[in-house]
Amino acid sequence: MSDNKESSHFVCSLCDFSAPYDYFGNKPPFAKAIILMEKAFVIKDPFSPESKHLTIGGFCSVCDKPVCVGQNCSVFYTKRFCMTCTKDNIKEFPAEIQQELKKRPTTSTKD
Ligand SMILES: [Zn+2]
Ligand SMILES: [Zn+2]
Repeated sequence: MSDNKESSHFVCSLCDFSAPYDYFGNKPPFAKAIILMEKAFVIKDPFSPESKHLTIGGFCSVCDKPVCVGQNCSVFYTKRFCMTCTKDNIKEFPAEIQQELKKRPTTSTKD
């Protein structure tokens, strides 16, 4: 009964999203000539005939928690920031990011 699938399963720390991933890092082997701007959890795009990739999540560059790329969970601005750290440091972000965040619906995140 050995089950190692847990080790390749991404779980977001802010929402209930979880999914198995194919690769963690910034150079997905199945997406040639792609270098991601962050180390991220990546899956092969199941709907694409070419070997495209989808980023499903990454680690917050401040608190190191795994967060998905969902609008309510993280922001990517040169690095990835979880929504908690983004709100704590909102003044550090440029106006366009602040505007973008204001447009997003505020939902209650679980603690
Ligand atoms: Zn999430
Ligand atoms: Zn964070």
